[in-house]
Amino acid sequence: MNEDFDRAVETLRGAKHVVVFTGAGISAESGIPTFRDDEGFWRRFPMDRFGTWRGLVRTARTEPRRLAEFVRCVLEPIAIAEPNAAHRAIAAAQASGARLTIVTQNIDRLHQRAGSSTVFELHGSLYDKNGRDRRPRGEVTPAQLRKVCDRLRAAEKGWLPLVRIVFALRPLLGIGFRGVYKPALVLFGDAMAEPAWSLSRRAAENCDCFVQIGTSGVVYPAALLPEGASLAGARIVSIDPERQPADIWLEGKACDVVPKLFGEAFGSGDEVAV
Ligand code: NAD
Repeated sequence: MNEDFDRAVETLRGAKHVVVFTGAGISAESGIPTFRDDEGFWRRFPMDRFGTWRGLVRTARTEPRRLAEFVRCVLEPIAIAEPNAAHRAIAAAQASGARLTIVTQNIDRLHQRAGSSTVFELHGSLYDKNGRDRRPRGEVTPAQLRKVCDRLRAAEKGWLPLVRIVFALRPLLGIGFRGVYKPALVLFGDAMAEPAWSLSRRAAENCDCFVQIGTSGVVYPAALLPEGASLAGARIVSIDPERQPADIWLEGKACDVVPKLFGEAFGSGDEVAV
């Protein structure tokens, strides 16, 4: 690990442009479970019924209580999460002047809340709402998300669950004076969020170091980014407790490895004024 750590520091130090690509694992220590941990989120909530908009609509009709449980399980940890030391270390490196492009698959906004300025959100964000035309329709606050969770909990137990779910979800999903709005999320089968996807691909193909943190690399097309970076000649550094294909694998949790690595490579602390 020490030798690999030193090689990773040298790689980051020598790089002109670094892409930081994060997945669910970076937010695990903020209390947001990954979808592929031991409890097997997608085993509890099968992807065909819960991973697409069409599946969700069908589930709402046939199993409204299960739908309420699923949505609450996704929202609740995100609504109460705070950025952790890994998010802050990345923001501090960016603030110190390092040329970093941050690309995330996460929908939790924790990079921005840690102080990172430009973040490409490939799968959108739970805090944004879009219309049918995919144009922005405003934002949601953590307090609103928490209220939605309380109401969903009631819907899971009470009468008329579907009516209660529709009422509970109104801050996120409904019909306003400008038409239908829904969370700006990219579910399975949806087109990627733009311009985030095109800009991320360009960044991956033009960087000389690509650091991936807490991602299993099984969600496509996002998983094409490290492949594209590698083909274009970048060194791939992976930080993850599980071995991932990379030139350098730093085995460990994000909060243990990232602050140390970024601190040494960029001489940045782990705090940034926000
Ligand atoms: P994943 O669930 O497929 O894989 C998580 C990876 O994180 C694994 O490789 C695991 O070994 C690693 N990991 C677990 N704990 C870690 C830690 N403390 N530090 C570092 N790594 C750790 O995640 P994915 O590849 O991001 O794909 C899941 C999809 O689900 C993403 O597209 C994302 O949109 C979505 N998702 C988002 C969130 C979030 O916004 N926080 C949470 C769950 C899932």
